[in-house]
Amino acid sequence: MSRRARAVDRELARARRREILAVLLSRAERLLPAEAELLRAMVDTEIADGDQARRSLGGQSAAVRRLQNRVEAAEQAIVEAEADARRAEQALADREPLALMPVQSCRICGAGYTLGRPCPTCAYRARAAGLTPEQEHHR
Ligand SMILES: [Zn+2]
Repeated sequence: MSRRARAVDRELARARRREILAVLLSRAERLLPAEAELLRAMVDTEIADGDQARRSLGGQSAAVRRLQNRVEAAEQAIVEAEADARRAEQALADREPLALMPVQSCRICGAGYTLGRPCPTCAYRARAAGLTPEQEHHR
């Protein structure tokens, strides 16, 4: 029997018990012994059903709270992971210009210069040498 069918069955049984309870309670002062016994059985069943329903609801509420806590923890973890990812991307972006412009030591003069560009020290010395009075004189 499916859960839905069991729920419908329980609902029908509960409705029937309540009908009987209403009849018995309206006649409570003049019940036969067998009717008084039936009344007790009906009331006991209703009480047990109510207790079971409350326990079930309590368990479901606790499960919902646990799931809410897990969802909140997961959302917090996502926020932290996204912040970590942004920081990592920023750190990578900050390092990129350095990675693209490694500093090398000039093999001629020993000064530091950016790879792929002329050594500024050697370039300066070449320009300075080109402007010496001697060389001006020999032109
Ligand atoms: Zn140099």
